[in-house]
This record gives sequence, C-alpha cells and structure tokens, in this order.
Amino acid sequence: MDRHKNVVHSKVVEQATKEALIRRGVELKDIAEIVYEMQLPYNEDLTMDICIESVESVLKKRELQHAILVGIELDELGEQRKLSQPLQQIVESDEGLFGVDETIALGAVFTYGSIAVTTFGHLDKNKIGIINTLDQKKGNSVNTFLDDLVASVAASAASRIAHRSRDLEEKDQAEEWF
Ligand code: MG
Repeated sequence: MDRHKNVVHSKVVEQATKEALIRRGVELKDIAEIVYEMQLPYNEDLTMDICIESVESVLKKRELQHAILVGIELDELGEQRKLSQPLQQIVESDEGLFGVDETIALGAVFTYGSIAVTTFGHLDKNKIGIINTLDQKKGNSVNTFLDDLVASVAASAASRIAHRSRDLEEKDQAEEWF
C-alpha cells in the first residue's frame, strides 16, 4: 500500500493557509507590521521587507499552517452558526475562560523557542495592530481564534528574526577574526 497516497502536499496546505488568512481580512503586511514593532528595538537595520520575508517563512511550517486552518475553520463555522451547542455560544461570544484559542496558537510557536513564547504572551496581553482590530467584535463576525493565530505568526516571525540577526552578527565577527 502506498502510504503517501492520501498525504496532502505541503504546497496545497501552505496555499490554503494564506488564502484563509486573506479571506478573513488579514494581509501578510499586517502581520509584518507587528513583527517590525516587536523587533525594531533590538535591530535598528530592520526593514518591512525583512519582516514580510520572515512571515512568509514561518507560514511554511506545518505547526502554524495546521493551527491556522483549524482555528479559522472554527471561526467560520461559528460565524455561520454551524457549531453545536454549547460550543457555538462559547466560540461566538469569545468566552474569556475558553482558552482553546490561545492554547492552539501557543502550541504552534514552540518551534521558534522561548523568544516566540514570550512575544506571544506580550501580544496576547497588549493586542498590537491588527490583533486589536480583530479583538474588537464587529457585527456577526467571529474572530475568536484568528487574533491568537495572528499573534502566533507574528511571534514566530519576530523570534526567527532575533535568532537570524545574531547568527549574522556572529558570522561578521568570525570573518573579522580570520
Ligand atoms: Mg481569541
């Protein structure tokens, strides 16, 4: 039996992830703006292009793709009132003690280490940029999972930049020594 027969190609999952974010009104640029704000104090040469590239790169990770697809699916089902009760009411009202939205998003940042975890915590608390827009419920829209997912992409991309800039610094120093 070909065990690869039923495996979805990673390009399909990556494309579906990006489309889901755009469908929910989140552009990669919006996430990159948060990354820029988070990392600028530590990296004065930072540009928006670097931040966008980092967001693109973390969106290639399956942990993040799967979390985004699951979370957005639940938001959309909640918006269409297709969840069963009492989950429908909990997701729709963004019940403060629910916590599964944060847990899924937090679980996806572990690949990027402790800087990603602490940045996620900061964004969860301070709701910067589009996270704040998404957190403010408008009409019948349900973004219970989406605000946390955006925080997890931004936190991962910020951590990736922090680690990469140290690598580059050390490479420069290594070249000076030899
Ligand atoms: Mg939430």
